[in-house]
Amino acid sequence: MQNIRIITDHDVIEGYLTDASNTRGHAEALVIPRSTEEVSEVMRHCQAEAIPLTVTAQRTSTTGGPVPNGGWLLSMEQMDQVYGPDDVGGGVILGEHQDVLERQGLMFPPDPTSRHECTIGASIACNASGARSFRYGPTRAWIEAVEVVLPTGEVCWADRNTPIPADWPRMNWQEPAVKTAAGFHPGDNLLDLMIGQEGTLGIITRAKLRLIEAPAAVLGLICFFSDLNACVSFVEQARAGAVRRGAPGTGGALDPRAIEYFDSAALDMARSRVPDIPQEARAALFIEIEHDGEPPLEDWWDALLEHDALAEATIVADDESGRLRLHAVRHAIPAGVNERVVANGMPKVGTDFSVPDQGLMAMMTAYSNVELPTICFGHIGDNHLHLNFFPRNEMELEEARTQYKKLAMYAVSLGGTVSAEHGIGKIKRALLAEMVGAEVVDQFRTLKLHIDPACILGRGTMFVMSDPD
Ligand SMILES: Cc1cc2nc3c(=O)[nH]c(=O)nc-3n(C[C@H](O)[C@H](O)[C@H](O)COP(=O)(O)OP(=O)(O)OC[C@H]3O[C@@H](n4cnc5c(N)ncnc54)[C@H](O)[C@@H]3O)c2cc1C
Repeated sequence: MQNIRIITDHDVIEGYLTDASNTRGHAEALVIPRSTEEVSEVMRHCQAEAIPLTVTAQRTSTTGGPVPNGGWLLSMEQMDQVYGPDDVGGGVILGEHQDVLERQGLMFPPDPTSRHECTIGASIACNASGARSFRYGPTRAWIEAVEVVLPTGEVCWADRNTPIPADWPRMNWQEPAVKTAAGFHPGDNLLDLMIGQEGTLGIITRAKLRLIEAPAAVLGLICFFSDLNACVSFVEQARAGAVRRGAPGTGGALDPRAIEYFDSAALDMARSRVPDIPQEARAALFIEIEHDGEPPLEDWWDALLEHDALAEATIVADDESGRLRLHAVRHAIPAGVNERVVANGMPKVGTDFSVPDQGLMAMMTAYSNVELPTICFGHIGDNHLHLNFFPRNEMELEEARTQYKKLAMYAVSLGGTVSAEHGIGKIKRALLAEMVGAEVVDQFRTLKLHIDPACILGRGTMFVMSDPD
């Protein structure tokens, strides 16, 4: 550890102790490596000294993943080298790199709403998703290989031909058949295991991305409905013909790449930014459609009329600046929600569950029956909505948590997951255990202990090593 500065100044460390979940931790030291070799050196030192080590990137996590429970913090901020369009350091900001790619006519599809604030390494570690995941699937499908520093300090490259070492304990469980980011991936290659492990099994220092040609043009729509059932039946029609997570639909005129939902409380929040939202709107959809120059407006118009949308009020963005304006509105809602959570000074309570198609309406009904101040929005195409609670005091917080847990178990009973994209972090361990069962959590622990003997990395994320909670 000769060349690495170990920062112990508490005023500096202070800026690294929380994330968007508004949970707070503590740490004794911070290191900011500039190379894979330095990451490895820190890891070896911490393993030898049994010092807990938490990886922190841009701290947009909503689950406490980068929040330390003591020990050292390793920040990825200087691991931001770009080696080529498809070859980047783990600390590169996702949206900045995507902007460069788009100017070259290329696309890296994963688009978490936070993409301009979050890193590529963390979005791999969390298997992040976004609006476009409806068509393209989550980050997993778009990663060819990663360079990873294992908890022993060993550096390796993993692609889908890299087997999990024969002496590592095997897991035997199945993920639910929905968009999910909960638990270690049960595949048989090292790359898939490293995707979605939330900084507990290795530090992703570099990644090879799968890129595709960017579409010639993208049309953005925001359409409004005065009735929730009409909105949901429109979604069902829109996705019937669509390519979903890479698999073609049943055919049909509509082929969106993203379908996002906003409830009436979310619309109230957006009204200050979008003056033309109709007063009678109770629900809205943000839709993106790729096309080759001729936007299929007529098909969409007919479908909107058929489903009693407030069709005349539809906002259409058919150029880049219009699309960016729509995105700004789309982003303003989760950002506004997080600001309100922070302003209330309470931990974030927000759902990240997804369910199979046939469970969508049941889940939405359960959300609308919650009798607390909430906002609901998100990736309705994937049956994956975020219901955000706004507790203002301890009593409301407790009630919100009770409701949240009930809703989580309901999603699981419908065949869904307790986390579709944000991961488990430190605040959803109990839910993961409920979803997968104690035996599977034990399998996770056995694997973790095998590759991280002093259990230093990401301690407390996903599960604790003893005393399951
Ligand atoms: C407004 C807002 C909108 C959001 N929208 C979305 C969305 O649409 N979709 C979505 O999926 N998420 C979303 N998120 C959640 C969050 O942005 C993602 O999880 C993102 O991937 C975290 O990136 P980060 O750089 O901020 O990482 P951090 O928050 O710093 O870390 C996240 C986790 O990854 C681990 N980690 C970080 N870097 C590495 C690395 N290089 N190697 C191994 N482990 C690492 C950390 O230990 C931690 O457990 C949103 C968050 C906010 C605040």
